[in-house]
Amino acid sequence: MNVVVTVEEMLARSRAARSSGKSIALVPTMGYLHEGHASLMREGRRRADLLVASIFVNPTQFGAGEDLDAYPRDLERDKTIAAGAGVDLLFAPKASDMYPAGYQTWVDVDRLTLPLCGASRPGHFRGVSTVVAKLFNIVRPDVALFGRKDYQQLAVIRRMVSDLDMGIEIVGMPIVREDDGLAMSSRNAYLTTDERRAALCLSRALSQARQLYRNGDLVISVLLDAVCATISEERSAEIDYAEFRDGETLENVTIATDGTLLALAVKIGKTRLIDNCLLGEEN
Ligand code: AMP
Repeated sequence: MNVVVTVEEMLARSRAARSSGKSIALVPTMGYLHEGHASLMREGRRRADLLVASIFVNPTQFGAGEDLDAYPRDLERDKTIAAGAGVDLLFAPKASDMYPAGYQTWVDVDRLTLPLCGASRPGHFRGVSTVVAKLFNIVRPDVALFGRKDYQQLAVIRRMVSDLDMGIEIVGMPIVREDDGLAMSSRNAYLTTDERRAALCLSRALSQARQLYRNGDLVISVLLDAVCATISEERSAEIDYAEFRDGETLENVTIATDGTLLALAVKIGKTRLIDNCLLGEEN
C-alpha cells in the first residue's frame, strides 16, 4: 500500500490509473479506523481495480467548540488496518493543501441539510459536501462507499452527485456494530467505562422502536415517547435530537411506515453519538 500526502501526487496517480483503464473506488474517512471503515474498504476492493481510502480530519465540517483538535488520530495504526482491508493507496492530505490561502468555494446542498445534524451543527454539511466534492475531483473515482451510520450524510452526498452530474456510483453500507449493539465510531474512544455502558441506550432505543413498530404501533408521537423514555433512563444521556423522518426526503412524518427513518443524536457525557435505523427493515 502506498501513502500519498499531496493533492498534486494524488491527481497524478488517479490520472495514470484512469489512462491505463483502471476503475477506481474511494472510501473517504477521517481516520482512527475501525471495522466499520474496514467493511467499506473490503466492499470497495471488490468493486474496482484501484482502491483509494482517504484520511482527512476535515476542519470545515467542525463548528466552533466542537472536537476538531481532540479528534483521535493514529496514522500508523490506520495504515495497518487499511492495508489489511485491501487498500492500494492511502490519501492523507494536509489541511493547508486542501484549503490553501485564498480558498473560497463551497458546495451547499439545500433542503436535505436543514433538519437533524444540519440543525444542530450549522455549517457541518457544507463542509462535508465541499470536502467530498474535492476528494471526488482529486481521486476521480467510479464508485465511492459511505456508511449508513451517517444516514443524512449519505443522503446529502447522493443528492450532490445527482444534482451536479458527477457520474459517480454511491454505495451505502450497513452499520457495523460492536457485539453489544453499540454502533462503531471513532468517537467511542472518548467514552469512559461508565459512559460506554450508558451509550447502549441508543441501540436499545432503536431496537425498542423497531419492536413496537413490528407490533403495530404506528403513531409517531407514541413511538417517540417510548424512545425518549428509554434514552432518559441513562442519567448521563442528553438527547440532542430523536426524530422520525421520511427515509428518502428526511421530511417529518406522523405515521410510521416501512422505510421510516429513526435518527438519534445523543450526548453521553461530553461525547455526541449518532445512530439510526429504518423501520421494517433488517438493519
Ligand atoms: P468517519 O471516519 O467517521 O467520517 O467515517 C467514514 C465513513 O465510514 C463514513 O461513510 C461513515 O458513515 C462510515 N462509518 C463510520 N462508522 C461506521 C459504522 N459503524 N458502520 C458502517 N460505516 C461506518
